[in-house]
Amino acid sequence: MSAESERAAPAAGPEQSAARRRPAIVVVDDEPAVLAAVSRDLRRGFGERYRVLRSGSGPEALEVLRELRTRGEAVAMLIADQRMPGMPGTEYLTQARRLVPDAKRVLLTAYADTEAAIAAINEVALDYYLLKPWDPPEEQLYPVVEDLLTTWEAGAALEAGGVRVIGHRFSKESHDVRDFLVRNRVPARWLDVERDGEARELLRVAGVDGERLPVALLEDGTVLERPTILELAERLGVAVAPAQDHYDLVVVGGGPAGLAAAVYGASEGLRTVMVEREAPGGQAGQSSRIENYLGFPAGLSGSDLARRATDQARRLGAELLTVQEAVALRAEGAARLVTLSGGGVLSASCVLVASGVSYRQLDTPGFPELTGAGVYYGAAMTEARACSDQHVVVIGGANSAGQAAVYFGGYAARVTMLVRGATLEKSMSHYLIEQVAARPNIDVRTGSSAVAADAEDGRLRRLRVRGPEGEEETLAVDACFVFIGASPRTDWLEGVVARDDRGFILAGRDAQAAGWPLQREPYVLETTVPGVFVAGDVRARSIKRVASAVGEGSMAVSLIHEYLVEA
Ligand SMILES: Cc1cc2nc3c(=O)[nH]c(=O)nc-3n(C[C@H](O)[C@H](O)[C@H](O)COP(=O)(O)OP(=O)(O)OC[C@H]3O[C@@H](n4cnc5c(N)ncnc54)[C@H](O)[C@@H]3O)c2cc1C
Repeated sequence: MSAESERAAPAAGPEQSAARRRPAIVVVDDEPAVLAAVSRDLRRGFGERYRVLRSGSGPEALEVLRELRTRGEAVAMLIADQRMPGMPGTEYLTQARRLVPDAKRVLLTAYADTEAAIAAINEVALDYYLLKPWDPPEEQLYPVVEDLLTTWEAGAALEAGGVRVIGHRFSKESHDVRDFLVRNRVPARWLDVERDGEARELLRVAGVDGERLPVALLEDGTVLERPTILELAERLGVAVAPAQDHYDLVVVGGGPAGLAAAVYGASEGLRTVMVEREAPGGQAGQSSRIENYLGFPAGLSGSDLARRATDQARRLGAELLTVQEAVALRAEGAARLVTLSGGGVLSASCVLVASGVSYRQLDTPGFPELTGAGVYYGAAMTEARACSDQHVVVIGGANSAGQAAVYFGGYAARVTMLVRGATLEKSMSHYLIEQVAARPNIDVRTGSSAVAADAEDGRLRRLRVRGPEGEEETLAVDACFVFIGASPRTDWLEGVVARDDRGFILAGRDAQAAGWPLQREPYVLETTVPGVFVAGDVRARSIKRVASAVGEGSMAVSLIHEYLVEA
């Protein structure tokens, strides 16, 4: 296979060699010597898997991207010099993002341009900035590029993947199956029966009645009509049953707190199992861009964080059970027993409850019936692409709503934010308010709320909105994403561990004041049941951040070690 880099040329014939179909890395620099050097190094490191296309200016590279897009060819990465006459790197990347939104974006800068690169992180959602010179490439270039390409490949593989799911876009069952596959990183291709001719053909060949959707066609030829999530998980080999009789630690919940506990627990020799009812990642897995997590100056998406943490936990030996919900907890002597929704019971010396919080649902007329059929709770990532050229409404005024609005702003034609408060300032971080304001296709309506959702053909079509003066207006909408806060779902612990009046779990000194049974003091993250710990958003008085959830999850493991030594 040729490993040559190619001079990017807009014109291309229809006859494409196999080598040309490798995904592209497009490099732009106006200085021929630098362009040649970076292309040479990239070719040397990645030429086997990627084509390296060179371009001398932003406009020329944009033309190349249009060509690639027309031919349906994949672009994995854009690398651009910042200082170029006519069109600086940041402007090029902004325009290029509209053509190839999934490609990783890297800015090449001299030390003097670091400020511009940092500013570009928000402007163009930059993934990384590389300082010139990048010698030696083995240390300064390859690790960064490899990491970004691995992330890109994980996304591309998911979309090209083996399982095919055919369904209606606006059906709750279809949405749930798609969301499960995406969030559990099962490679799958989604086919919309209304829009996709191939979907109808596949149904015909498989002999499936169009009334029995969604249908999952597995790689081994199995056809699953209207599968339950548990059935699908079992058939796809997503672990749903425990491998051991007894564990040192059962972690309930696979958000940042639970994943951190799984990583630290397993790495420190505890037999650790993590139980997650949906998919690892928790709320953070729904975040389009976490910007304030230490060590990731360009931010990282929640799904990326979840993927990295899940791989890390597994590599270190933690067992992960998904699509299993903890439904009861009891203490029997030194054992702590967790009953699972699938019927099994996990036995452990310690339990960490890291079950976070769940989105609050709107009970406004029309919303409950249309959930999954145009109304979504935090399902931003799964639905974003289907929203291109559409009108999307985001309800809520906090950071999660702001992130979603900015994210959808990159796909949808128009985004309307309905914010109940009079301003965004009280509820949203300053940096997000700036990002929302910078997007001309986002319309923020403060003092406004949805009072009804109307359907047509079983899917959301219109929202009735009440404005600050009580006036009402009907908006034609394609999808509505709701982010109106969250609450803990800890009913399954009723009567077992002490909770506050909103359901958050008490720990440490609060637990001591709420019926702690022993002479010794509880550890700071220990609940009213000795040996049962709590971490992350579900803990009363916790700070609702990824970093603090990760901190508490890892800290809990160290306290659990102390508990086990003393027990
Ligand atoms: C859209 C959005 C954007 C955000 N952006 C940021 C940001 O930029 N920066 C930041 O610092 N924070 C951000 N946050 C907040 C951050 O995501 C949370 O603070 C963090 O995820 C809390 O982690 P956790 O592990 O405690 O709980 P969660 O993330 O809520 O995870 C809990 C997990 O437990 C599972 N679970 C619950 N009950 C059970 C049960 N009974 N059995 C099995 N599993 C169960 C759930 O399915 C879930 O996966 C954002 C939140 C949202 C929703």
